[in-house]
Amino acid sequence: MNNPNTASILRRLRALSPNRGLDEATALGIAERQATLLLQLTGQTAAPVPLQTLRRIPSVVLEVVENLPASGASYWTGTCWRLEVNDTEHPHRQRFTFCHEFKHVIDHPNRDLLYAEHRTRERVANHFAACLLMPRRLVTQAWCSGEQDLNQLASHFSVSTEAMTTRLLVLGLLDHRPPQRIFCTRGATKPLHWEQAFAIAGGRSIGEHP
Ligand SMILES: [Zn+2]
Repeated sequence: MNNPNTASILRRLRALSPNRGLDEATALGIAERQATLLLQLTGQTAAPVPLQTLRRIPSVVLEVVENLPASGASYWTGTCWRLEVNDTEHPHRQRFTFCHEFKHVIDHPNRDLLYAEHRTRERVANHFAACLLMPRRLVTQAWCSGEQDLNQLASHFSVSTEAMTTRLLVLGLLDHRPPQRIFCTRGATKPLHWEQAFAIAGGRSIGEHP
């Protein structure tokens, strides 16, 4: 039996968006307010935000699908909104894609009116997913309590490190993307322990930023 509160979730999320064309900044702001409202309506107050948040919404079905030629897809079957993700992708990426696809469902009735360009619609859907899985308050709380290792923080929120890095940049908690090592396969045999590499380098520190 449907809970009357959950039955109205999709309608309440759609009600946050005006029926007119949106510039990107306005659309991003609305996406964050929709994500925050969804967290409130489903009582989510801690990380990681479970996909149960979406599963509780009547008429929304989540499926991991084989041979999907994209990361995700969403459509109305006639009886439900079906959100699909690619079975070959990492579960953290699948979580993000489910949330991204759900934003398309929220926008569906007015999607051609809301966004002038397809790529804006996609960016806004990514922002909605980021706001839902990495809520501003929880990420800021974790960061300010000293949890600043990107991999650990990503694991805490069950998202990819890339998604977490982007979120921290958007929130102004990082001011640049950290440099990434590019590993080359030349001569790749057994990796050296750092003490061996240090000795071979003549005791000089190499390959690291100061
Ligand atoms: Zn999309």
